[in-house]
Amino acid sequence: MEKPSFYRTKNKSIKKRNKVTETNKDPNQEDMLKYKEVASQEKENEEVSRGILVLIKADVFHCPICCHALDPPIHQCQNGHVMCSKCCVNLNGKCPSCSEIIGLIRCLTLEKIIESMEISCSNAGCDAIVSYLDRASHQKSCIYAQCFCPLCSFQGCMSSLSQHVADNHKKSAVQLFSYESCFDVRVTDHELNILIAPDNRLFLLLIKDVAEGVAFSVIGICPAAEDYKFTYKLSVYNHPNYIELRSSGSMTCEWKGVHPKTFLLVPADAFPCHKLQVCVTITKKNMRP
Ligand SMILES: [Zn+2]
Ligand SMILES: [Zn+2]
Ligand SMILES: [Zn+2]
Ligand SMILES: [Zn+2]
Repeated sequence: MEKPSFYRTKNKSIKKRNKVTETNKDPNQEDMLKYKEVASQEKENEEVSRGILVLIKADVFHCPICCHALDPPIHQCQNGHVMCSKCCVNLNGKCPSCSEIIGLIRCLTLEKIIESMEISCSNAGCDAIVSYLDRASHQKSCIYAQCFCPLCSFQGCMSSLSQHVADNHKKSAVQLFSYESCFDVRVTDHELNILIAPDNRLFLLLIKDVAEGVAFSVIGICPAAEDYKFTYKLSVYNHPNYIELRSSGSMTCEWKGVHPKTFLLVPADAFPCHKLQVCVTITKKNMRP
């Protein structure tokens, strides 16, 4: 018979405690037993509020139809077969296991269990414990999330990516910079220039030829952490012409070649391409003190 190795609980609070009997009524011993009783009750209350640690096979929380995570609302047919709301719609409310109607009854117990669950972040190096339902948003914004090199297939957390870029792409346009100070980037043949911040965040100065001239924009290659935002300023000067763009920036862990909608358009007639130099200032805004 298969062992139930997937289930483990830390809660030992159901253990019965010894009762104090009238026959061993030594005052000191009585105090001690009372103390133990109170301590044990406190521990029990603490365990109830903190919850219990249980190991359950992950596929229990997967929709049996599409195999994706079962997030509420969870539907069940009258025979107890469950599925996610997407599958319920796709199957026109008919249970594939028993052909009964599905979509009228919610599996509230399973929803309650899932809503109360906490999970540790799967990114190496992160010790955050987050609500199971918030797992996706945390993992996207977690500073240990995997980021992808825009020049090769390397992936790693923010610090290993900046180290990788500095070590392996020296010949490409890679530049270190400090926040809040203006630095010049000479426009070369590169479609993108990699800028490395002191906190290991990577930024791309993207360059795109468009019909009217050249479009410049900045994007952060880093997790979109909740407590981090950045703004940037791009300016180009060629006497007597000066143009400037100030914008808030967006972040992504993987740049898939899509240029931001906000860009600095440098008209070819006013700024000859062969001597273009862009002045960049990136300012970070920590949302929490
Ligand atoms: Zn499904
Ligand atoms: Zn069914
Ligand atoms: Zn994390
Ligand atoms: Zn690379």
